[in-house]
Amino acid sequence: MEIRFIGVGEACDSNYGNTSILIKNRGSSHLLDCGFSVPHNYFTYCSDPEELDSLWISHFHGDHFFGVPLLCLRLWEMGRKKPLHIIGQEGTGETVRAAMDLAYGNLFQKLQYNLNFHVLMPGEKAKIAGMTWQAAWGDHSRPCLALCLSAGNKKIFYSGDGRPTAETALLAGNSDLVIHEAFLLSDDIPGHGSVQGCIKFCQQTGTKQFALVHINREIRQSEKNHILQLLDKVPGRSGFLPETGEKIIL
Ligand SMILES: [Zn+2]
Ligand SMILES: [Zn+2]
Repeated sequence: MEIRFIGVGEACDSNYGNTSILIKNRGSSHLLDCGFSVPHNYFTYCSDPEELDSLWISHFHGDHFFGVPLLCLRLWEMGRKKPLHIIGQEGTGETVRAAMDLAYGNLFQKLQYNLNFHVLMPGEKAKIAGMTWQAAWGDHSRPCLALCLSAGNKKIFYSGDGRPTAETALLAGNSDLVIHEAFLLSDDIPGHGSVQGCIKFCQQTGTKQFALVHINREIRQSEKNHILQLLDKVPGRSGFLPETGEKIIL
């Protein structure tokens, strides 16, 4: 399984694009979240319009789904024919459709490929595009689903936005990789993860490897070395701060 960090930033970061992760497994390809800046970055890595099989939307904040109209527009321009699976919480189909209508009038009607919307709610297990999908609510200002994506003996957890909950900890148990938002250094404000909170979360859940993303832009700039030192001190776990475009293989 190949994991590429298309973006690792928060909503307003000029240096790091919105957090988005591209996962490839046995010929299938899956994009997790698609904010304002994601399509431009995505197409620097993928030039084949048919390559993407599915798109996960964790929640309806702009830095996680306002890129969908542009993604669909460019795939239309490139002549895509294959349906695109779009997976998320209840309301995903309606909300994506509304964003597309606002952004590009009749784009939805003129697409020559289908958008197949799937609702995934906590407690459900779906098999879509060769992967197994499960979700749990994190603690965020808008309802946000954390995702567990698995295939074969590999399991990845992606938090979307939000502080860990008992439900997300259960979902993340024994993941090969946890990708978690860590907006702050410590749990100072509700609704967001933190570096310290994520370290605790990964120790609790038996995670082998974890990547911290969506870090507040000022903290990422001024506290990077401090964060790396904190990650270095976690016994038996490997934590890292991915860079834009970085790729790892599980
Ligand atoms: Zn958010
Ligand atoms: Zn966000």
